[in-house]
Amino acid sequence: MSTLELILGNEPRQRMRLKRSLMAAGVYGLSLLAQWRMVMLGQADAAAAGWLALLVAVVVGAFYVALRSGIAIGLRDPALTMPQILFAILALALAYLINPPVRGMLLMVVALVLMFGAFTLSPRHCRNLGWMAVAVFGFTMALGVRLDPQRFPLQIEAMHFAFAAMVLPTLSVLAGQLSQLRLDQQCQKRELRDALSRLKEIASHDDLTGLPNRRHMQEWMPYELSRGDRTGKPLCVAMLDLDHFKRINDTHGHAAGDEVLRIFARQASIMLRGADVLARWGGEEFLLVMPETSLAEARIALERLARHLAEPASWGACANHAVSFSAGLVQREPAQPLDMLVQRADAALYEAKRRGRDRVVVA
Ligand code: GH3
Ligand code: MG
Ligand code: MG
Repeated sequence: MSTLELILGNEPRQRMRLKRSLMAAGVYGLSLLAQWRMVMLGQADAAAAGWLALLVAVVVGAFYVALRSGIAIGLRDPALTMPQILFAILALALAYLINPPVRGMLLMVVALVLMFGAFTLSPRHCRNLGWMAVAVFGFTMALGVRLDPQRFPLQIEAMHFAFAAMVLPTLSVLAGQLSQLRLDQQCQKRELRDALSRLKEIASHDDLTGLPNRRHMQEWMPYELSRGDRTGKPLCVAMLDLDHFKRINDTHGHAAGDEVLRIFARQASIMLRGADVLARWGGEEFLLVMPETSLAEARIALERLARHLAEPASWGACANHAVSFSAGLVQREPAQPLDMLVQRADAALYEAKRRGRDRVVVA
């Protein structure tokens, strides 16, 4: 494990959150160094500065532990952004009172703290934090004027407050807008992902029957065939064609023909095993792929399907225009490609039609 991994862990989102938290810790560290310098120069009270440094070290350490250990992951705010920002505002308000000569500069750090909200908070929370910061600093400045008017003259504090009241809310509105952009982008990403999976489904499945289509089979079969080559198990393929299907269209209409195709697809899917794949190859032709199946087993499966379709109950409301099917069945020879398999199955199917339909012919 590298040092970086030790510090940040390896959960990508939590790593990002930890990085931001450590960036904030860096700013705390530099600010505390500056405060120490103020103590050296006799401009800040050593005890108060020491207590503040201790408080910051403990709380920032606790935030690090919560983020690094993964405790925070289950929370609604897994980056702990809100508590971290609230603590930073509080710590800065205390620093404002402890370090009078540089207090104006601290307002700049408050502005920086508010920007962190843009990464995880809602736009409304960003804006609310801006107003809250103004309120906290208004109170802090008033406290300074009240307790130590020598070092916090009213005129100067009024000026500080005016700037804080102007800059902090504006900045929090901007942070909110950034956050809104982030949320919009997340939403677009989700929509795109959904649209893509819909498109994949449309591209690989037949609308009428819901079965995988020819394109899907042409993509998927090479994987299945090479798997068969590896395992050495037999694989059978059958080409099925509905018998005298045109008559249904001609006598009952195209919609009835569509319904027959749908029922055939549904009933066949029910009858076949989970590992078998039935695809609509075109028109009223279906390709059935039976992995790890011997010729004898495949034949039994097709005959069972034919018997099932011979039952009027299988066709429901379409019982008076039920159809049979003819099939050409082949067992794959080693390393035989898909087009060759289909060619052989087609020839056997042609033979089944020639011999009078409603039968299975083995190539
Ligand atoms: P055979 O027993 O020789 O296979 O005779 P058949 O009538 O089934 O064969 P033919 O190839 O002459 O006719 C197939 C018909 O299937 C022609 C075509 O209009 C129809 N068809 C193809 N796709 C669809 C479809 O999606 N819906 C409907 N309703 N009919 C379709
Ligand atoms: Mg037909
Ligand atoms: Mg046909």
